[in-house]
Amino acid sequence: MNQGASAEVLTDSVYAAQLQNDSRAARFPEPLESSYIRTWLRNNRVVVRCACLLTVVLVAMRVAETRLTSPIASPSAPVFIVLASSLVLLWLAWSGSYERWYLPFARVLVPVRNVLGVLLLVRASAAGGSDALMVLPLTIIGPFYFLGLPFRSGLLAAGLSVLTELFAARWFHLPADTAVSTAGFLVTTLGACAVAARVLDRQARRAFLESQLVGELAQHDVLTWTKNRRIFDESLTRLWRQAGADARPLAIMLIDIDYFKAYNDRYGHQAGDAALRQSAQAMQGCARRPFDLLARYGGEEFGVILFDTDRAGAEEIAEAMRRTVQDLAIEHDGSRCCDVLTISVGVAVVEPTAWRNPYGALQLADEALYRAKSNGRNRVEVMDDIEHRMLVTGEFSKDIVADLKSGATAG
Ligand code: GH3
Ligand code: MG
Ligand code: MG
Repeated sequence: MNQGASAEVLTDSVYAAQLQNDSRAARFPEPLESSYIRTWLRNNRVVVRCACLLTVVLVAMRVAETRLTSPIASPSAPVFIVLASSLVLLWLAWSGSYERWYLPFARVLVPVRNVLGVLLLVRASAAGGSDALMVLPLTIIGPFYFLGLPFRSGLLAAGLSVLTELFAARWFHLPADTAVSTAGFLVTTLGACAVAARVLDRQARRAFLESQLVGELAQHDVLTWTKNRRIFDESLTRLWRQAGADARPLAIMLIDIDYFKAYNDRYGHQAGDAALRQSAQAMQGCARRPFDLLARYGGEEFGVILFDTDRAGAEEIAEAMRRTVQDLAIEHDGSRCCDVLTISVGVAVVEPTAWRNPYGALQLADEALYRAKSNGRNRVEVMDDIEHRMLVTGEFSKDIVADLKSGATAG
């Protein structure tokens, strides 16, 4: 593949484009950001669950401790809010809608819980609970590393803890030396956590882009950025089975660029690559339904699978592809059928049954393509169940071959 084509191909992948343009971004553009956050939450679910569980245990223990030290005092509303929000997050971390709802709730509940928690702890310390302040660093470390918040939300929640501590120390008249040393410790913790979390965030984002790109490269043809042959073969078997189970017709197309050898000879291989790529992208625009699949079948040939598509529908899409490539108006002096680059399309429309297999249908599409070539090129030929019965090549079940043979003998 030449340099120009490879650079263009990379821009076809959103992951590659992000890696090239701004791999240091603190946030990706949508919908990449949502996809990253979902993946990240999924990968970190165990950590989030443990952190939520430990938070509930910690809060419950402090409530119990308060009750033990002063049995008549009932827990205040802020204590209940801290406990309830911790329970909500714990429940979401375990629920089936974790990926959908955990983060929106955590973004609100963690800062709220931090503010209330810090107020309660500082008040307890001012009232003589000497160990209360020991818990404060957790309100900074937790949001960054353990509670599943993205960097910015973690920074906000942890920053609020520090600000609340500064305010609460004055409000509850914490001894000056304790207030200063606690504030200093918290600010240092915040700075260290923020720097380390930002570095980890950047690494996690880069690793996400790279792993997604590897996944895409394994599925795509790097020149045309259509799906590759492996995906075509896998999809053919899968969609064939699905269409058989649902009793739906399946359309399979084989597309071949006309006089492409002559194009390479006349304009050079690099221009050939560019034309191949342009044609593929144009055809891709004609097969956009969720189950439609266009793949590079090999060389200058493409394969298309259209699920639940009858003869008229398949013919319409094939004709649209033929027209769209012709409309690109890529000059082709060496063509003997047109003065611009064109394609020939062979279409097979079959209803998958137990006694047929997908390779027979592919063979039918190949026969249709051969017919399109011999009938003058730059055209679409469709074959369906009737022609399928006439086929004598390709892979068929023994029954149908025997059927055909006995029919021929009877005739
Ligand atoms: P027909 O109309 O019968 O299909 O004629 P054709 O010249 O297209 O058919 P043939 O099979 O003889 O030639 C196919 C050509 O496609 C030969 C090969 O150089 C070219 N080709 C295959 N893959 C690539 C590719 O990735 N890049 C370029 N530039 N050319 C390719
Ligand atoms: Mg060919
Ligand atoms: Mg060709």
